[in-house]
Amino acid sequence: MSTKWYPFIVESKCTGCIACVEFCEYGVLEEIDSKAHVMSKDNCIEGCKDCQKYCITKAIYFPDELEEMIKDGIIKCSCGEHE
Ligand code: SF4
Ligand code: SF4
Repeated sequence: MSTKWYPFIVESKCTGCIACVEFCEYGVLEEIDSKAHVMSKDNCIEGCKDCQKYCITKAIYFPDELEEMIKDGIIKCSCGEHE
């Protein structure tokens, strides 16, 4: 178990299909107001990305995907080398 490894869900990309919520057997994710939310971070399994495979809108990112998040416009690069 890890407190640092858990999914980041981009709310604007989440359709609320709850595929990820239903798939995760560790109770990390919950559906609230028709969106998936990370509710039990500590239950997430280090290195697991299984819920991401079920998200057809690509709303789920993980801590090792900062470059993808920058490329997809989810976060901005602060070092200036990833514009
Ligand atoms: S699978 Fe993706 S779109 Fe569906 S609820 Fe989860 S994050 Fe949202
Ligand atoms: S990465 Fe694995 S353990 Fe973590 S929320 Fe997704 S399916 Fe659950």
